[in-house]
Amino acid sequence: MPELPEVESLRRDLAATLTGKAFTSIDVRLAKQVVAPTGLSTDDLIGRRIEGVRRRAKFLIFDLSDGLALVMHLRLAGQLVHRDAEGTTLAEGGHPVPAYGAPLPHKSTHVIFHFDDGGVLYLTDIRQFGRVWILPEDGVQPLLDQAKLGPEPLDPAFTVDVLRERLARRHRMPLKPVLLDQHVVGGIGNIYADEIIFESKLTPSTRVGELDDAALLRLHAAIQHILGRAVREGVAEILNGKASPTRDFPRVHGRAGQPCPVCGTLVTKAQFAGRGTYTCPSCQPA
Ligand SMILES: [Zn+2]
Repeated sequence: MPELPEVESLRRDLAATLTGKAFTSIDVRLAKQVVAPTGLSTDDLIGRRIEGVRRRAKFLIFDLSDGLALVMHLRLAGQLVHRDAEGTTLAEGGHPVPAYGAPLPHKSTHVIFHFDDGGVLYLTDIRQFGRVWILPEDGVQPLLDQAKLGPEPLDPAFTVDVLRERLARRHRMPLKPVLLDQHVVGGIGNIYADEIIFESKLTPSTRVGELDDAALLRLHAAIQHILGRAVREGVAEILNGKASPTRDFPRVHGRAGQPCPVCGTLVTKAQFAGRGTYTCPSCQPA
């Protein structure tokens, strides 16, 4: 599943390659992926320019000329690829199907946006949970409000006190599922939850009510450090639906049986709350 760093890095790339482009046609091959209120359809996009691309948690928001907006969520396995008129990839992100650089469109490419410079944006989604909303600009905030998203972890307003307050409502729950809960903090998924817990020297099963002030400070710093690093340095590479640590990041996720980068103990993998979970038994003692 694309996580906050992937969506943020995709946002930056698409903002650079799509801003100023106008839609010329839209080919919807799977109707359920496009949602529009009564009276709006993909026809209303034609001729409108993309004025900017924003992000809130894992939602991408394309602000369009003349008061419309396009909102996208890639959910479990969506992928966006922007190619120029010659077919060269300008920007891509999300879950590569079947692999990076695949010929497009293919049978899992469900929405295709054409632009006035000949460029094309492909939405490919093998699981079909991704969504595209066509909305008046004042419909964007109500859509985001419905999702009841937690605070943006990379925003300066996300302080230790904000984190403490979000965790207090779930004090009996173990740390990992709390970090994965989009109502607590927006945008953390399975890979970065493992990295954040490792960096904090906590364990996935620590009850959040048992975190003392020092642990909370470490956890808060780790959330910002790990997500910030992932956005800056490029995201975890995904191959065959699994994070593939071809570089030194992620440090524990996807590295079962490899030495911990801090202490050399072998990283272990276990199922926790239904998710493959990687830890260092020495750095993260129970
Ligand atoms: Zn270790």
